[in-house]
Amino acid sequence: MPEILNKVQYEKGRSYDYDRSADNSSYLDVIILPQSHNDPGWLMPFEAYYKNKTVNILDNTVKYLTMYSKMTMIWPEVIFLDRWWREASTDSRQTLKALIESGRLEIVSGGWVSPDEATSHYYTVLDQLIEGHQWLRKNIGVQPVNTWPLDQFGYSSSLPYIWKKAGMNNLGIMRVTQNVKSYFARHKIMNFRWRQPWDLNGDNDILCYVEPYRWFVTDVSCGPSTVICNSLLFHKKSERTTMPMLNRISENLVEQFKLKASLNKQKVIVVALGNDFAYDTVKEWRAQYNNVTALINYVNDRKSQFGVTMRFGTVKDYFNTIRHLQETDSYKTLSGDFFTYAEDDMGTEYWSGYFTTRAFDKRIGRTLMEHVRSAEILTAFALSRTDKGSDDEMVVSMLKELEYARQALALFQHHDAITGTSTHSTATDYRKRLHIALISCGRIMTHTIRKSFSQRHNSTT
Ligand SMILES: [Zn+2]
Repeated sequence: MPEILNKVQYEKGRSYDYDRSADNSSYLDVIILPQSHNDPGWLMPFEAYYKNKTVNILDNTVKYLTMYSKMTMIWPEVIFLDRWWREASTDSRQTLKALIESGRLEIVSGGWVSPDEATSHYYTVLDQLIEGHQWLRKNIGVQPVNTWPLDQFGYSSSLPYIWKKAGMNNLGIMRVTQNVKSYFARHKIMNFRWRQPWDLNGDNDILCYVEPYRWFVTDVSCGPSTVICNSLLFHKKSERTTMPMLNRISENLVEQFKLKASLNKQKVIVVALGNDFAYDTVKEWRAQYNNVTALINYVNDRKSQFGVTMRFGTVKDYFNTIRHLQETDSYKTLSGDFFTYAEDDMGTEYWSGYFTTRAFDKRIGRTLMEHVRSAEILTAFALSRTDKGSDDEMVVSMLKELEYARQALALFQHHDAITGTSTHSTATDYRKRLHIALISCGRIMTHTIRKSFSQRHNSTT
């Protein structure tokens, strides 16, 4: 049994019983994971975020991933890729495609959005996933194999099944009640096979990783000390990084990495390099890449001293490594969900208010779900009875309206939309889109029904 030393409590919400016994049998593999969490609406509406932040983030991603050959990035939401793609030059599109194909820019999940898992209906979760995956297949030609829904406020037991059936084998989650995380850490089961309760053979198991800390952002995820994790925020410092500084930062960080690693069995950890809407400025790209590369080189040159190797990587690199280190069948299995999420150590700050917040919007969302489904069925029926070439303009405009409705419904599944956790102006923007989509569905249904009846009438006279 490893020796469990005294409890290290750096601050509220970050306490674990850390195992400080030294294991020098192999190097600790530290994967630095650059990421930028982009909400399609939260403090400001989707379009405002896109114009103020995300367009720069994606432009810079294309530019700097091309320039920095070791740098990596992940991207979950296809809604932003679609928005960017419509205005991007052919060259930029091709570069983005090449970066994704190379694996350095990994599309994780690949849904239209990162959907809420408590208040959404499974049908709409599936629909937004189909919308995202079809876009990726059509424009990029890739199929995501990992999902990384870190910001959702708790996790449904059914969604791992949907992810698995949609071709994803690995899953990362984060917003799990601290008491549950502490239990996982005590038993070193931060990785487990998530099993459907009815699936006796585990045919639909998905390999799951639980991020031990409260948020997967630079200043929190290196280990228990936010003060030390903060040293990775190079773009926020005014002074230049010197060798003595690198030495000090490395020693402190390596200690944090080892503490984080002690919460799990495998000698590999993943550390965030990013935040909400990170990497929108040139300064951040340059400062983070240059300084973190210097840090990686410094540690790797002294790996026998530190017992650690570092590299940039993506979610795929993490899961490939842990699957390589341990047979997937030997991971513990777990069934059930992670509701209701409590953010603090004491389990008193429950995220349950959003189950009913903005109930009217939630109701409109369900109504639109029914309307989109009906409009799709009627459109498919009408199209099957339409001669090719006849009424083309009307068909094109109907399909466009249907696409708008489907995408408005998909956007509303975002974890700050249907949940009601956005600002008033953002909620108003979602509501407007839902109403436009409802009117469009009504128009499509009227047209398709009229068309079907008139065809029937013509064929019987
Ligand atoms: Zn979010």
